[in-house]
Amino acid sequence: MSICEGLVQVLEDQSTSQNYQKVKQVWLEVGPLAAVETEALRFCFDACTRNTLAEGALLHIIELPGSGWCLGCSQSIEVEQRYQACPACGSYQVQVTGGEELRIKELEVE
Ligand SMILES: [Zn+2]
Repeated sequence: MSICEGLVQVLEDQSTSQNYQKVKQVWLEVGPLAAVETEALRFCFDACTRNTLAEGALLHIIELPGSGWCLGCSQSIEVEQRYQACPACGSYQVQVTGGEELRIKELEVE
């Protein structure tokens, strides 16, 4: 299932529990390690939401920074991709601590 289809599925599931009929805007948080092409996501969102309760909804993508902890120099660093070297000491012993997010932050519904 594509990410877009998954997203529409989540919106449809939530419409029952949260009692809404239409989604007008979606704010989506995406981390750099979520393996999501945000441009592709924007592009396919319109097609995937056609004839669903999110048809015509606006998609806002919030790109989050990635973060990690370097075991080499014991500090928190910014991470843009998996298995990258620490920018401070060059060590590859980096534990990813954030950046895998792919979640709906906020919805405007009616
Ligand atoms: Zn380091």
